[in-house]
Amino acid sequence: MASSILIVEDEPSIAELISVHLSHEGFLPVRAFQADQALQLMRDVLPDLIVLDWMLPGKSGIQFAKEIRANERTKDIPIIFLTARSEEVDKVTGLNAGGDDYLTKPFSPKELIARIRAILRRMSPQLKEEVLEINGLTLDSTTHRVTFNQSGRLVKVELGPTEFRLLRFFMANTERVHTRGQLLDKVWGDHVFVEERTVDVHIKRLRAVLSPIGCETMIETVRGSGYRLTRNPIPIS
Ligand code: CA
Repeated sequence: MASSILIVEDEPSIAELISVHLSHEGFLPVRAFQADQALQLMRDVLPDLIVLDWMLPGKSGIQFAKEIRANERTKDIPIIFLTARSEEVDKVTGLNAGGDDYLTKPFSPKELIARIRAILRRMSPQLKEEVLEINGLTLDSTTHRVTFNQSGRLVKVELGPTEFRLLRFFMANTERVHTRGQLLDKVWGDHVFVEERTVDVHIKRLRAVLSPIGCETMIETVRGSGYRLTRNPIPIS
């Protein structure tokens, strides 16, 4: 799944330059010319990362970053600030406001992309190419293969694409309870256009696939909250 990058930049030529390079590198760029427009876009779909211009008409980039950090739904989205050279003295302010990195204009698009990749690798373990293992269940993000070690014998677990992403997210974020809305944001990448009961349907399918190998109890329903994957499920009596 391509990572979506929200570019909040009022200078069209810079926004275009970043957008073109991101598309070329396999990212999904989304553009907003000011904070209000960016907020509107984020109401529908959360980006994986935000490239945020410091000086924007209306609300400043700094103010916008603070709001992103203060909101439970958006607080973990990494932010890279863009500023003009004259504003460099404010670097500390930017990082304090919740920026994860900082680039001074004019910058090389290659460098911006390298930094985006570095942050995505660091911030989102579930996006990394890696092997996750819990209680004998192994998920390989590179080969998209899921196996279960049944007393030394490897059993292949066949999952649909959504169930695979769901399981990968759960295995990368164990023990924490995730609401249906959070799962839609993180697994589907869409908070608004998919109904929350869609999550229930895919959880049911995931459990059905995990059931023959006895792993379905690892996916727990937390009443009134959502779902979680636990290493220590309560045994069914
Ligand atoms: Ca600007």
